[in-house]
Amino acid sequence: MKDITTLAFSIAIFIFGTIIGSFLNVLIYRLPIGMDFKKGKSICPHCNHNLVWKDLFPLFSFIFLNGKCRYCKTKISAQYPIVEALNGALYVCAYIFLCGGNGIKGITISMLGYFIATSALILIIWIDFKHQIIPDSTWIAIFVGGVLIVLDSVINGRFDVKDLIARIIGIFAVAGVLLIIGMVSKGGAMGGGDVKLMAAAGFFLGWKLVIIAFLLGALVGTIYLLVTRAVKKGNMKAQVPFGPHLAAGIFLTMYFGSRLLTEYMAFVTMQLQ
Ligand SMILES: [Zn+2]
Repeated sequence: MKDITTLAFSIAIFIFGTIIGSFLNVLIYRLPIGMDFKKGKSICPHCNHNLVWKDLFPLFSFIFLNGKCRYCKTKISAQYPIVEALNGALYVCAYIFLCGGNGIKGITISMLGYFIATSALILIIWIDFKHQIIPDSTWIAIFVGGVLIVLDSVINGRFDVKDLIARIIGIFAVAGVLLIIGMVSKGGAMGGGDVKLMAAAGFFLGWKLVIIAFLLGALVGTIYLLVTRAVKKGNMKAQVPFGPHLAAGIFLTMYFGSRLLTEYMAFVTMQLQ
């Protein structure tokens, strides 16, 4: 019975996630050009035709329209269904793996915090990759995600002041170092957006995990550079935004950070004996 409710919640969460995902597509398009996302109707960027609800239905519109605009038959970017499906699937992952699933028990304020952070990370990956900017609303959303997780612990009587202190130290743990490096190197490789992102991630994850997130982000970035360099054979543009890799590092840490930390500490302890 519990499995059935968990399955039902997972399906509902997936559908909810795709609806938020279609809103993320609007933000990916409008945030970088400073367009108000609340105003104006959705239009086809090719023929400017106003889109109605049946053109905008997450995932299904793309499938039934065969990936083409209903009015001018121009191909719709695969980004739209990918972001919708990804956001839906990752919401289900947050419910099952971060909040334990288990029917109604997994539906918590923390889950909402993880949802908000997940969507913000998706936005950063897409927007920073295309435009080399991290909009303020995205890192603020990750900070809010952390606040919701703390709020959940207060409401459930599991609040631990040490956890809050670890989060406050987390704000400075990576961002502070990046800020100093940035000042010494006068600009350098890290943008201000990267610093703000790691400050928010520090509160979201705590100081131990945000360090792991940064290392994982650097690892993802290095692999990305090596792969693109191999594919393009040295014909590389110098500027590669670091934000998407940091976002990937933060995302991986949400799921695997604690385990990595425990295994690393066990390894270190073993070496010292
Ligand atoms: Zn069109």
